[in-house]
Parts: sequence; structure tokens; C-alpha cells
Amino acid sequence: HQAVVHGDISIDNISYTYHDSEQPVVSNVSIKLKKGEKLALLGRTGCGKSTLLQLITRNWDPQQGQISIDGVALPSWHETSLRTAITVVSQRVDVFNGSLRENLVLAKPEGTDEEFKASLVRVGLETLLEDKGLDTWLGEGGRQISGGERRRLGIARALLHNAPILLLDEPTEGLDRRTEQQILSLLLEHAKDKTVLFITHRLVGLEQMDHICLMDEGEIIERGQHQEL
Ligand code: ATP
Ligand code: MG
Repeated sequence: HQAVVHGDISIDNISYTYHDSEQPVVSNVSIKLKKGEKLALLGRTGCGKSTLLQLITRNWDPQQGQISIDGVALPSWHETSLRTAITVVSQRVDVFNGSLRENLVLAKPEGTDEEFKASLVRVGLETLLEDKGLDTWLGEGGRQISGGERRRLGIARALLHNAPILLLDEPTEGLDRRTEQQILSLLLEHAKDKTVLFITHRLVGLEQMDHICLMDEGEIIERGQHQEL
């Protein structure tokens, strides 16, 4: 059953404790987002933001509560459908030991070389195409890329994947202000009709969010809109 994913997210009172810890890292969190709504999640380092995001991708299951997409609880989703429904730009972008093409094709298996190149140009990575183009080897025995380039490669993948739900975990960390602005406008333009959860430390781009949540020690301690906070 491969219905078209709409992109409503409902997080109902979830709590999550890592197996090796005593305290929950996420406590009694509830968030509802309708298709197209955008939420920024802020909070100190270690407060549980990335863990919450990973629960939405079903990396782990919460011990309490439930997360649903389009009204269907995550455990009832096929893994492949879930992967089609959600795009993640994680805090640490994985670069494989392989060609530039191999590093992009997972995001869009049916993508063409033209699309791959265009996505690199959009994130300002066209310099990686010099010399060997998409055959450029990344990683061990190949071209080493910087932290900022790695992050932009993650964004290029997100643009290619093009799912109705976009989860962004500090997507512009380590980029200079100008590049940060460019990348954020690119992402928000791309995400116009998508449901977005945007984790950030920085107070940039918040005016374009429908909701802002502040997290502390696993709980959402404040909610509001940009003007109110
Ligand atoms: P940051 O802003 O630094 O990215 P965060 O809000 O994303 O922080 P998390 O990565 O969710 O925080 O981590 C929350 C807490 O859970 C931290 O105390 C962290 O040490 C712990 N933690 C994270 N991942 C694991 C794991 N795989 N196993 C055990 N504990 C973990
Ligand atoms: Mg994090």
C-alpha cells in the first residue's frame, strides 16, 4: 500500500530513555504539525533535540506515547514508505568512500547526472565538479571535503530526495553568515509546501516558522510564535 504521503505529523506525549541511562532524554513531548507547517526547535546542547528528531525517523521507538504520520502510527509504516516520506539533514552528514555520484544517488535513485550536477550548483559546490565531474572520488583515497562542504552535500541530497516532510538538524552549523542565509533561503523555498522541523541554535530564519518550541532537559518548556518570544 503506497498511498501518497500528505505530511501531517502528530507526536503524542512521547518519552524516550536510552538503554544505558536512567533519565529520559525526551519527556512527555507533544507536537502537532499539519502538512506545510514549520516548527523551529531550540534549546541548549544536550537537551534532547536530535534524539527527538531521530524518534520521528524511527531510529528508535519511544517507551511512552506515539508518533503518527498522516494519522498512522510509525510502527505500522513500511520502512521504505517512511524513507520516501521523510528527508533528513542530520547533524553529522555522512560522506561515503565513493564517487560524488554515489554520494548523491541514494537520495534519488532515478536521478540523472544533470540533476545531480544541478543540485551541487544550487548549494554552491560546483567546484567539486572540476576535473572529474561526478566521478570525483570523495573520502579515503579521494578528495577530502571540508565541514562546510560536507554540510552542503547533505543539503544537495535533501533537495534531490524531495519528500513531504523535512527534518533539519542544525543544517547551517559551521557555515559563514552569508552562506547560511543563502542555504536557508534555498531550503525554505524548497520546503514551501512541506512540513518542516528545524533544529537550530541560531536565531536566523525563525520569522519564517509557524511555531517555535524551546526544549530543556527533554521537555518542551515554551511554545510560541516568532513575535511573542
Ligand atoms: P546538541 O545541541 O549538542 O546537538 P541535542 O539537544 O541534539 O544536543 P541529543 O543529541 O539529543 O541532544 O542528546 C541528548 C542527551 O542524550 C545527551 O545527554 C546525550 O549525551 C545523550 N545521548 C545522545 N545520543 C545517545 C546515545 N546514542 N546513547 C546514549 N545517550 C545518548
Ligand atoms: Mg543535536
